[in-house]
Amino acid sequence: MSKIYDVIILGAGPAGLAAGLYAGRSRLSTLIIEKGQDGGQIAITDEIENYPGALLEGESGPSLIARMTAQAAKFGAERVSDTIKDLELEGPVKKLIGAKGEYEGKTVILATGAHPRPIGCKNEEKFVGRGISFCATCDANFFEDFEVFVVGGGDSAVEEAIYLTKFARKVTIIHRRDELRAAKSIQEKAFANDKIEFMWDTVVDEVCGEDILDAMIVKNVKTGELTRVEADPDDGLFGLFGFIGYLPNSQLFEGKVEMDHGYIITDDDMRTNIPGVFAAGDIRKKSLRQVVTAAADGAIAATMAERYLGEIE
Ligand code: NAP
Repeated sequence: MSKIYDVIILGAGPAGLAAGLYAGRSRLSTLIIEKGQDGGQIAITDEIENYPGALLEGESGPSLIARMTAQAAKFGAERVSDTIKDLELEGPVKKLIGAKGEYEGKTVILATGAHPRPIGCKNEEKFVGRGISFCATCDANFFEDFEVFVVGGGDSAVEEAIYLTKFARKVTIIHRRDELRAAKSIQEKAFANDKIEFMWDTVVDEVCGEDILDAMIVKNVKTGELTRVEADPDDGLFGLFGFIGYLPNSQLFEGKVEMDHGYIITDDDMRTNIPGVFAAGDIRKKSLRQVVTAAADGAIAATMAERYLGEIE
C-alpha cells in the first residue's frame, strides 16, 4: 500500500461513476473500486428512456453505462476490480480492505447500490438460474416461445413483463394486490398487450421441479386458496422473474455509518455522520431511486469531498 487517494469511490454504478467523473475533473486523485461489472442495476436494464438526454435509438443500460465509465476514465479516475471485505472509516485516513489489496483515501464515497429482493417463496434458492431470474435482459432469450411469470406490480415488474413478451409465448404478472403500483403510462402498455395476463391478489408460495422449475404453488392472499401451476407438458419448464423491489447493499457498513433500515443516512450534501465519508445513489435513504438521482448524488458527493479536503488541508 503506497498511495493515499484523495477520494475512494466504492461502487461503479451511475452514482459512483458520476462521482468519479466529478472528482477526476477536479484533479483529485481518485480510485473507483468495483467487485463486478460497471453499472450496477442499470447494467441489466434493457431500455433507458427517462435519463435526460438518453434518447438515442436503442439506448440501453449497458450502452449508457459504457459512456459513463469512459467519461470517468477520461478525467483520470483510476479503477480497480476488487471485493471490499472490511473498512476503517474513522480518522483522517480511511482504509478499505479488499480480497486483493488494501486501499487508503482521505475521503470515501459509498455507492454500492442495491440488489433485487428475493421472491420469498419456499425452495427459491434451489431454482435461481434454473428457472428463476431477476434480470429479464440477461435471461429473456432462454425463454423464447416458453411461458413466463413475473412477480410484482411496480414499474420494474410491468416494464420487464412488456420486454419479456418479445421472447415468451405468454407472460403472466403475479401481483399481491388487485391493482398495479406501476405508472399509469406503463400500465396502459401492459393492458394493451395481448400476450400479458394477470394473476391478482396472488403470491408465489413454493417453487417445484427436479432440476429445473416446472411447477409452483401460488396462494390467493384474500381467500388463502393454494393452486398448483404446472408447466405445459410440451415445454417441461417455465420462467419466473422476480421484480418486487430492492434491498440495500449495506451489510459491510453496519455499525460503521448511521443507517435506517439498511439505507445510509446523509444530509443534502451526501455527508454521512462520519467526517470525510459520503454516500451516493440507491444506498442512501431517499425517496426516488433513479439513474438521474444517483448521478446527481455522485456529483454532489464528489464536490463535497473536494470541499472537505480543502477544509482539512
Ligand atoms: P417498487 O416500486 O417498490 O414495487 C415493488 C412491487 O413489488 C410492488 O408492486 C409491491 O407490491 C411488490 N412487492 C413488494 N414486496 C413484495 C413481496 N414480498 N411479495 C410480493 N410482492 C411484493 O419496485 P420497482 O418496481 O422495482 O421500482 C423501484 C423504483 O424504481 C421505483 O421508484 C420505480 O418508480 C423506479 N423505476 C422506475 C422505472 C421508470 O421510470 N421507467 C422503471 C423501473 C423502476 P405493492 O404494490 O402491493 O406494494
